[in-house]
Formats: sequence, structure tokens, C-alpha cells
Amino acid sequence: MEPTVGYRAYHSRDGCRGHGCVRRHPGSQSQPLPGAGDSTVLTLRPHHLTDILTDYDPDREVKPWPSGNAVHVVTRMLADGLGQKVKFVIGPDDICRPCRRLQPDGSCERILDKHDPPEPIDEYNDRLDRRLLDFLGLTVGGKLTLREFLGIVNIRTPGIEVVCTHPTQNPKDKLNGIIRGLINLGIREESGESHSGNNE
Ligand code: SF4
Repeated sequence: MEPTVGYRAYHSRDGCRGHGCVRRHPGSQSQPLPGAGDSTVLTLRPHHLTDILTDYDPDREVKPWPSGNAVHVVTRMLADGLGQKVKFVIGPDDICRPCRRLQPDGSCERILDKHDPPEPIDEYNDRLDRRLLDFLGLTVGGKLTLREFLGIVNIRTPGIEVVCTHPTQNPKDKLNGIIRGLINLGIREESGESHSGNNE
């Protein structure tokens, strides 16, 4: 059975959806990503991070998705501390790397058939990630810690939901999810102010 919730963002139940809870369970520590080229830097599409943030809930159990993607691994990394360094890419990333839908040529086999006209998910994702990097003032290949990235997201919230809400989502729900995720990770105060302390 699929996890009950998670990565409601954009990916289908057999695509790159899904993470759950990050409350500490035995054996639930984050693991290195299999096959990752540089074990010290995580390579990510920026929208994968904002999607995970949107659904982040420390009381939700984290489970892998059938497609084998690494959303659950990255979700646990968030819970384990925000010092992890991330390099931003437009293309397949460390979440895609173990996914069964990733093709040998680096493309994703998914087609977004609810779009009019239907389009390959890679085309949609690439557009979205370019917009998101531009909006956040970041560049392809740039490196930040998770905390630094989330700090920038916080500064651009509200507003970011206009850029990163998927067609199947409600922008208000997206915004609320992002705010809740930032609060749960200690980046944002309930009032909307940035958190001044260092929680790492
Ligand atoms: S290869 Fe990447 S984009 Fe495609 S379904 Fe898997 S995680 Fe999602």
C-alpha cells in the first residue's frame, strides 16, 4: 500500500511522489543516496525541495514510494539537520537516480497526460526549475546548505507559491504547506519572522 500522504505536489502514485514521517523511528536515519556521485553534496532539482517542504510533517511516517525514488531519503535528511550541502540542477537529480522511471539516457519516462496538450514531465520540470531558480536568485550549479536554501525560500514566502504550485494544486494549499514546513523546520516563526537561532 502507498504511504497515506506525502509529496502531494505533482507526481503520480507510481512516479516521484511520496514521503511521510520524519519522527525518529528505529532504523529511520537518512541513508546515503545509492549511486550518488559526490556523497558530500546532494544534487537536486529545486522544485523537488519545495515539494518536500510543502509536505514536511515531523509526525508523519516516512516511507519509500514504489517507484524507488529518493524523496523519503531527502525528507529524512531535512529532519536530521539542515547542514547538508545541495547543488541545484535542471535535470535528473539524486531523487531521480534510484527511480525506476528514469531511463538510461537520463530522461524520465513519465508523460503528464492531464496537461493540455500532454507533455513529458522533463519539459514541465525543466521549465518549473528555471522559473524557481530565477525567482529565488539562484543559479544552476550553485551550492547552498539546506538551511541557506530554506532561508531564501522563507524570504520569498508568500510569493513563491505563484511560481511553484503545480497545475493540480491549489496555490493557497501550497503556500500553507510551505509555511508550515518552514515553521516545522525552525526556519520561520509562527508570526512569519525568520528564526534567529541555529537549530543544527
Ligand atoms: S525519474 Fe525523477 S521525475 Fe521521473 S518519476 Fe522518477 S523521481 Fe519523478
